[in-house]
Amino acid sequence: MTEEITVFDRIKSKEIPAKIIYEDEVVLAFQDINPQAPVHVLVIPQNKIVGFPDILDLDQKDLGAFLQGVARVAKQLGLEAQGYRVIFNYGKNGQQTVEYVHAHILGGRQMKWPPG
Ligand code: AMP
Repeated sequence: MTEEITVFDRIKSKEIPAKIIYEDEVVLAFQDINPQAPVHVLVIPQNKIVGFPDILDLDQKDLGAFLQGVARVAKQLGLEAQGYRVIFNYGKNGQQTVEYVHAHILGGRQMKWPPG
């Protein structure tokens, strides 16, 4: 994947607005503009990774901090009691449309399996 400036880079630099849910030195979380569930939040690492396979190049401590950030956001959203889904899309078959790694947190309704 080629690295380019994405809409998420622009949200991170506050060039374009987003409904920010949570921000710290590790992650930035904001509402998805096209929600697929009553709660649909995207969590990006502050240190950019383009695609899921790039996680292989991360220091395990940094990866752990990112995943803990995702869990922290889900907790803050009050989703733990009922449950939620975390999704990373990658590449063409995974239908990734923004080349900046992001976790989708979906909640507030019963999910189905298999996903489409
Ligand atoms: P993916 O298909 O996994 O790459 O997901 C990209 C997600 O980004 C989609 O769910 C879009 O609705 C969402 N999205 C695109 N542009 C924006 C934006 N400006 N603000 C918030 N979410 C966005």
